Amino acid sequence: MLADCLAELEGGAGAVVTSSGMSAVHLVTQLLEPGDLVVVPHDCYGGTYRLFTSLAKKGGCRVTFVDQGNDEAYQKALAEKPKIVWIETPSNPLLRIVDVEKLCTQAGDTVIKVVDNTFLSPIQQKPLELGADLVIHSTTKYINGHSDVVGGAVVAKTEDLFEQVAWWANCIGITASPFDSFITTRGIRTLGIRIKKHEENAQAIAEFLDKHSLVDNVYYPGLEHHPGHLIARKQQKGFGAMLSFTTSFDQETLAQFIKELKLFPLAESLGGVESLICHPSTMTHAAMDEAAQVEAGITPRLLRVSVGIEELDDLLSDLTQAFEKVSLNTTAVNKEVSNG
Ligand SMILES: *Cc1c(COP(=O)(O)O)cnc(C)c1O
Repeated sequence: MLADCLAELEGGAGAVVTSSGMSAVHLVTQLLEPGDLVVVPHDCYGGTYRLFTSLAKKGGCRVTFVDQGNDEAYQKALAEKPKIVWIETPSNPLLRIVDVEKLCTQAGDTVIKVVDNTFLSPIQQKPLELGADLVIHSTTKYINGHSDVVGGAVVAKTEDLFEQVAWWANCIGITASPFDSFITTRGIRTLGIRIKKHEENAQAIAEFLDKHSLVDNVYYPGLEHHPGHLIARKQQKGFGAMLSFTTSFDQETLAQFIKELKLFPLAESLGGVESLICHPSTMTHAAMDEAAQVEAGITPRLLRVSVGIEELDDLLSDLTQAFEKVSLNTTAVNKEVSNG
């Protein structure tokens, strides 16, 4: 039932439900022969990065990481005749947007185009309609939406590709358990209404942060100054509920700010009904060395928020009080300093 539901939502010929988002990624790698090339975004999900680099290291495939927003770099990678092009938009944690239709058209018919649609959902983005062949999800996130299941899915556009992934899923035994599938199906019943509230809250919080004097940069595709705003408007039905921002706080003040927040627990993962805040450079992206973080645009001042579906006024008041507390302390410290 869950597989049929996801296939219908994404507009595919069929879907396979897997035991996690990473097992969905793993399942797709079964379509590769040794020597085949995969083109992967330089700022892809950390687990995907780890899987492809480890697989390439033992000869399972070849992999090239490129900034797919850079036309020249992408064309150069395509000239190497990849078997698979991996696409992920919006990206984590800077919410970079790439043009799915353009990337798929440029890749051409001989390439299997895969889109990781986890940061949105089929409600906001339908990659198969934009030219992709496979869509993958970590259903752990928005699809289930209650942070109580780990799961994934691969949705195929054609019957032929569906048969291939279904055969491999059975062969390697990474399908999901019946109970997890039942829980996820229950989660999907509220997907539409959850996404509506997630996005309403996220847009308001992004605008609030954008105007706040203690905030430097806000990354949210729903803000007009976001570099991917126009592409997002074209290919998405909504802007999602993930955002990130930077402040000028030093590390101590940043830690205090996070501690003062009552409605944004410090945690990884995303897409659940509860809001979460995370510090990518020491948490989700800690496995990247400093140079790789700089390359991906991740600084120690960056905070990522998964906006939940709580009352908007409660979320805004919580952020307001946390900013006030740290700014009071910062002023107090400055006074002490100036008093000698
Ligand atoms: C979380 C996530 C995954 C992996 O999913 P798990 O269910 O945690 O294994 C893959 N891709 C993206 C974009 C994710 O956010």
